[in-house]
Amino acid sequence: MSVIVQKFGGTSVADSKKILAAARKAIRAYNEGHQVVMVVSAMGKNTDKLIALAKEITKDPPSREMDMLLSTGEQVSVALMAMAIQQFGYKAVSMTGAQIGIKTDDAHTKARIKSISTDRMRAALDDGNIVIAAGFQGVDDDFNITTLGRGGSDTTAVALAAVLNAESCEIYTDVDGVYTTDPRIVPEARRVKQISYDEMLEMASLGAGVMHSRSIEFAKNFNVPVHVRASYSDEPGTMIVSAPESESRAVCGAAIVKDEVRLTVRGVPDRPGSAQMIFQAIAARRIVMDMIVQNIGTEGKAEISFTIPKIELSATLKALEEVKRGSNEAYETLSYDDHLSKISIVGHGMVHQVGVAEKMFLALGEKNINIQMISTSTIKISVLVDQDVAQEALRTIHAAFELEKVPEDMAQELRLAETTDEQKIHMIHRLQQLEELLIDKVELDENQARITLPEVPNTPGMSAKIFRRIMEENVVVDMIVQSQGEGLQTKLSFTVPCESVEKAYHVASCVAREFQIPEPKMSPAVAKISLSGTGMRSHTTVASRMLKRLAEAQINIEMINTSEVCFSVVVAAEKGKEAMAILQEEFKHSLE
Ligand code: ADP
Ligand code: ASP
Ligand code: MG
Repeated sequence: MSVIVQKFGGTSVADSKKILAAARKAIRAYNEGHQVVMVVSAMGKNTDKLIALAKEITKDPPSREMDMLLSTGEQVSVALMAMAIQQFGYKAVSMTGAQIGIKTDDAHTKARIKSISTDRMRAALDDGNIVIAAGFQGVDDDFNITTLGRGGSDTTAVALAAVLNAESCEIYTDVDGVYTTDPRIVPEARRVKQISYDEMLEMASLGAGVMHSRSIEFAKNFNVPVHVRASYSDEPGTMIVSAPESESRAVCGAAIVKDEVRLTVRGVPDRPGSAQMIFQAIAARRIVMDMIVQNIGTEGKAEISFTIPKIELSATLKALEEVKRGSNEAYETLSYDDHLSKISIVGHGMVHQVGVAEKMFLALGEKNINIQMISTSTIKISVLVDQDVAQEALRTIHAAFELEKVPEDMAQELRLAETTDEQKIHMIHRLQQLEELLIDKVELDENQARITLPEVPNTPGMSAKIFRRIMEENVVVDMIVQSQGEGLQTKLSFTVPCESVEKAYHVASCVAREFQIPEPKMSPAVAKISLSGTGMRSHTTVASRMLKRLAEAQINIEMINTSEVCFSVVVAAEKGKEAMAILQEEFKHSLE
């Protein structure tokens, strides 16, 4: 019999009426002949309230007790939901994470799922029950209750759908689907008919809170079709599947992280392992770093900048203080800017289209919005802007890419990729732990060159002007990294195919002369090594492992970019093959 997983988020179970309405949806699916597993979140804002309560007791609640506390929110909902179903005359059984058999690691408040035993659920389903599973929680090997991180019920739902080989996973929420951007901020946003796993992974990881990004890792790895829809209606919503909505569109959506912090660590000794110590300390706390820039500064000391979500600021500062205590020379100074937002665009089509970055920069420049940092990856471009102009920036970008318009080549029929039982079993065998890192390939591109403008004025529209000139010469730009230097200057680096480096350099020189800034520097040949896979950023140790191995081999990283599906580093051309071999070796267990 086919299994359907239905997940109801906090607002969709906020009161008894809503719980009864959700129960009716599950009963309808049951009556249509499916076995039904419901996953429910804590009622309304209950998790927030519990967190606030803990903070009234202590500023820094121990994470084990935090999990004990937060898991109660979901326990209330499952019990009430089971009562609701039973009073309609149907059989239901509620289960906590431990009872379902969700085993996680012991990283309290950010635990990852290691395994799920389906026996108990199967027995209850075969006995005619609707199974009601508590979202967001599991237990570690010592039976301590763990939680999966805010928004983690989505991950419970898709994980259950994956291991139960469910026909689909329905995510019932307070919007009627996935929009081109958060509809609460941009009312013109359009509901998309479908979105690909990779695009949704990036969108979710870059701030589209409608889905927990780790749930999409499960969906992608196990090919689970996810249907995001409204709990208040029966209309179809958005399908998250392997194919994008449009093949021709460069950009499928835009996302915002309102509270993003940029940290800058200066005076890091420029010798192997120094930067790596910093990255490792942060990664060990499962803090997701983004927009990483390393510069070799004066007197052989390096400067490292990276961004983190603001809720991770105090944990990050603690990690850095610890590094400093361990070795006073680890770095000289630490500063941060916490009045920033990160705006990103995402889309498969970016890979093939030129001028996407330029269009984004130009739109912001026209509105006089200053870009404080840029980082690109295969299917996303992120910029940092001042918080005060962030919402305007998001609206501007949404309009510039006409995301409100239905794509002309919109996929008419939903084609689901077939996955055989053998493939699913293969996937479960490939993964020793369900949320393990998976890397599909490591690639070397030796046909790249790099141009750096060391001092670009930090004023609105500068990046747009520079890239417009470069596009006018039909030069395809690949990676772009712009970072804040000291004072009012920024440093802008980008890579181009080797054959167009002369042209790109010429344009950059003209721009430099025009703006009376220092001449560009050119590296006529560099090597780019890219790792692609799933959940590369949410597995926070990927960056630090890469940096560690390359540092040990004395290979300097000239540029770096990160995303959920791809991670690239640029190194000197003659080091390309060696770096590639090192990374292949380091990640061999994650490669098929
Ligand atoms: P739930 O409690 O059901 O899990 P969430 O609050 O976690 O619901 O997620 C739904 C919210 O996500 C919406 O109300 C919306 O404001 C926000 N959101 C952010 N980005 C998007 C997007 N691209 N599409 C749809 N909703 C989005
Ligand atoms: N209740 C948890 C939270 O608010 C999990 C979830 O709703 O997904 O983060
Ligand atoms: Mg949610």
